[in-house]
Amino acid sequence: MERTDRRYDRMEGRVQMVSEKAPAKINLTLDARYKRPDGYHELEMVMTTVDLADRIDLEDRDGSSITLESSSGLVPQDERNLAYRAAALLREKTGVRRGVHIRIHKRIPVAAGLAGGSSDAAATLRGLNRLWKLGLSGRELADIGAEIGSDIPFCVHSGTAVAKGRGEILEPLPAPPPCWVVLAKPAHGVSTADVFGRLNVGAISERPDTEAMAEAVCSGDFDRITGLLGNVLEPVTMGMHPEVGKIKRKMLEFGAEGALMSGSGPTVFALVRKESKAKRLVNGLKGFCRQVFAVRMLGKPIDSLD
Ligand code: ATP
Repeated sequence: MERTDRRYDRMEGRVQMVSEKAPAKINLTLDARYKRPDGYHELEMVMTTVDLADRIDLEDRDGSSITLESSSGLVPQDERNLAYRAAALLREKTGVRRGVHIRIHKRIPVAAGLAGGSSDAAATLRGLNRLWKLGLSGRELADIGAEIGSDIPFCVHSGTAVAKGRGEILEPLPAPPPCWVVLAKPAHGVSTADVFGRLNVGAISERPDTEAMAEAVCSGDFDRITGLLGNVLEPVTMGMHPEVGKIKRKMLEFGAEGALMSGSGPTVFALVRKESKAKRLVNGLKGFCRQVFAVRMLGKPIDSLD
């Protein structure tokens, strides 16, 4: 995983800054087994990362204030931002008495089912662990992240994993075979809570096979992976936003080996082996979808963690 450190001297003293890459995740599978007494759904998912990433710059500051700016006007620039909340909670848990300025260079579409906010929070935890030399393990950072959001533990480790519970119970998997991922995000965003609120687990007619997908990933079987893609939230979001179904159909028409909505959507991704086909898909989809990306599958864990 790429990352950069920069330390430089200013007239007034030494200023330290670290940068962390915050990659987007996609769901190869998403199953909601049942609704738990605490109101959350018991989930089973296979998640992996793709090479579409935000960059988080963290600049150490004297004093105790946390400040934040983002290149995107679509995310909150204050204490509601998940990266801000991660920094505040980390300080509270460790008793650090330093401030930080957080700069988010946003590339991941917002409210898109790609865990952009969770990945920003996770990258903030990893980066501050290095900046403030806290020596926390990936597991410890993931536990802190879980208090803020269910996808954050996966994003702390990144890579590829089976996620259970609310998403915080992780079994790591090897990276899927290299391929191209074409992502298309319709103009509107989707609220994860809204989609789960409309899901009737008793009425789910078709569930993905989590175990078979994990095996296909382990054996690097691309054709089996594309054949096993499945997400029980897809019909819910498609019912609210028919463009999601249209994009998926177009992707398959243009020759994608597999296509699926990620998370609660509305982003749809296609998996293709060849770059030439990925480019063809991007050109075809651009006609009716403004945010279209062709990126490589990443799937490997962040190397700076235990
Ligand atoms: P998930 O798949 O984890 O549900 P998502 O990709 O659907 O996430 P996000 O992009 O994480 O959605 O945004 C969800 C909400 O979180 C948005 O309404 C946004 O205002 C808020 N948010 C807070 N912090 C951030 C951040 N750093 N980046 C993006 N959104 C953020």
